[in-house]
Amino acid sequence: MSNAPTLQSFIGGRWIGQHGSQGLRSAIDGSTLFRTHEEALDFSEAVEHGRKRGIASLMAMDFQQRAARLKALALYLTEHKEQLYTMSRHSGATRADSWIDIEGGAATLFSYAGVGARELPSGNIVHEGPAMPLGKQGTFAGTHILVPRGGLAVHINAFNFPIWGMLEKFAPSFLAGMPCIVKPATATSYLTEAAVRLMHESGLLPEGSLQLIIGSTGDLLDRLQGQDVVTFTGSADTAAKLRVNANLIRNSVPFNAEADSLNCAILAPEITPDDPEFDLFVKEVAREMTVKAGQKCTAIRRAIVPAKHIDAVAERLRDRLSKVVVGDPAVEGVKMGALASHAQQADVAERLDALLASSDLLFGARDGFAPRGDGVNEGAFFAPTLLRSRDPHAEGGAHDIEAFGPVSTLMAYDDIDEAIALAARGKGSLVASLVTKDPAVAARVVPQAAALHGRLHILDRESAAESTGHGSPLPVLKHGGPGRAGGGEELGGLRAVKHYLQRTAVQGSPTMLAAVTREYVRGAKVIETEVHPFRRYFEELQIGESLLTHRRTVTEADIVNFGCLSGDHFYMHFDELAAKESQFGKRIAHGYFVLSAAAGLFVSPAPGPVLANYGLDSLRFITPVGIGDTIQARLTCKRKIDQGKKSPKGEPQGVVAWDVEVTNQLGELVASYDILTLVLKRPEAM
Ligand code: NAP
Repeated sequence: MSNAPTLQSFIGGRWIGQHGSQGLRSAIDGSTLFRTHEEALDFSEAVEHGRKRGIASLMAMDFQQRAARLKALALYLTEHKEQLYTMSRHSGATRADSWIDIEGGAATLFSYAGVGARELPSGNIVHEGPAMPLGKQGTFAGTHILVPRGGLAVHINAFNFPIWGMLEKFAPSFLAGMPCIVKPATATSYLTEAAVRLMHESGLLPEGSLQLIIGSTGDLLDRLQGQDVVTFTGSADTAAKLRVNANLIRNSVPFNAEADSLNCAILAPEITPDDPEFDLFVKEVAREMTVKAGQKCTAIRRAIVPAKHIDAVAERLRDRLSKVVVGDPAVEGVKMGALASHAQQADVAERLDALLASSDLLFGARDGFAPRGDGVNEGAFFAPTLLRSRDPHAEGGAHDIEAFGPVSTLMAYDDIDEAIALAARGKGSLVASLVTKDPAVAARVVPQAAALHGRLHILDRESAAESTGHGSPLPVLKHGGPGRAGGGEELGGLRAVKHYLQRTAVQGSPTMLAAVTREYVRGAKVIETEVHPFRRYFEELQIGESLLTHRRTVTEADIVNFGCLSGDHFYMHFDELAAKESQFGKRIAHGYFVLSAAAGLFVSPAPGPVLANYGLDSLRFITPVGIGDTIQARLTCKRKIDQGKKSPKGEPQGVVAWDVEVTNQLGELVASYDILTLVLKRPEAM
């Protein structure tokens, strides 16, 4: 089909590509769907556009605004998802496979929008506090800040999840304020192009924040500087080649890699074929072989099982695999699609031949493999293939060869230490599952396996109902593994955002640190006015605005009343003799009484802009408060976050965190904490 449409790159704010070049074929029927473009890209333009326009437009927003924009992008993609589903079938994906790519991608944007809104401040500086005093007088302190790197993020992605693969890297980069230049794997780049077009058409992308390369990266890596980052997903060979790019090394450009991973699942020794865990194991292995036709970086390549049960595991797996209907996902009843490309089909066949040198075939193409659908003979289908390693301790084989398709190898072990040793032969993996019903086995295996795995999934009858499965990287948990798996880290909630921020130590007086971090730092100058801080609207409040309260002497009646009210008659408050023998040598007031009394000291009781107190952070009771002690509180506006939210009555509001110090008559700190409140914005802002 010579009239297949030409894919376009999106560089410098315009779509480039009129003349078709390499044909990209449907994995289902082999027809040519699209062509890459012939026009060469000018990477100096891409880099300049990202640096000038992208950084400026992203820095015109703050963390909270970018989080809100991610959410809007996620909603837009969700509304337009069917366009992507229609196209996704040609990459060999079933509806369920495409769900991971399309809706899993949007879910990752939603998740990072939530992380940004909940965990990042307003502005573009993250304070990794608390500040530490560095001198005896309290006039010199140190702390850490995280700031946008002021550079570009180049993302080079694998072919298996062309949309999720882009979005899972885009989300944390965008939140961190880094413009992205995305290079999808060519074979499935038509899906990435379609997603980028939607994002562009939404009008929600700040100028220069996302550029797309169809085809080669040319001299792009040679143009990067120290503030830029490169993240790569693909084969270990390509990772090894790119990470030694002389320019990247010269400029210390961080290079994050996710590469091949020979993930495993271990069936624990105590599990018998009658246990529900036995079937959970079989189901998980079969699922990881067939979802996305086994083209998941997290798929189970090695199934490590007790020797005494290996035949039973093989039998149940064969039974399951024989029921998997392979073919065109458009055909009713099809459960497994094709590999993403014909090149991939040839590659998996070659790797399977290599694996067969050291393993026996238990199930494969000979067992009734006949893909369903029109034209499937020209497609890139591959039979689910189960192997058994002849000698799991031998070099090579499934510990070293990754067939990136529906191929898995059973390995027998005799005791759990042998299983742990076999798992380690993967030389570093993204994930391992342990299927056990014995917490002691989990406690033994996990700490040893953790050094070699990015994620460990423990599966039993209790977790099964809600388990997200062996193969699903989650936005809030780390994705990435040591050694062979590339040594990188992606995802993981706020951790992932921090990969795209620069951490810097800052030293100075508390007043200077407060000005820099936009957070009150203990010891900094405070602002005291006639107006109670609780009577100020969100916009009026200044960081450092503070109230020193009147005092209150704590009496025995306070302790007795609080004990009766709360029901807390702990000996330290009520037993004179036991309290005398305690480390404090006397009866003391309840810590929660001190908290309540402090609130009584600092609140301004009449209705006002403070709508609610929704929590406390970092609470410590430092010095005990005895009968006759006199306490006083200082309440200081510590942090303001504008999430752009409204109260249930529709009134705009913001989050204000207050620093509270409660002291005694000697000036000693007795309690220290932050209180979190919701504060109204000025009525005219409604
Ligand atoms: P690959 O050949 O290494 O390609 C990966 C990406 O690198 C593609 O976008 C590719 O673009 C690009 N690339 C290749 N050579 C390049 C160069 N010289 N300069 C710049 N970019 C270059 O990997 P693959 O064989 O397509 O992918 C399968 C592998 O990916 C499997 O081994 C699998 O384990 C791994 N994978 C790992 C993860 C993970 O998270 N760990 C996830 C998915 C896949 P072109 O397509 O244009 O060549």
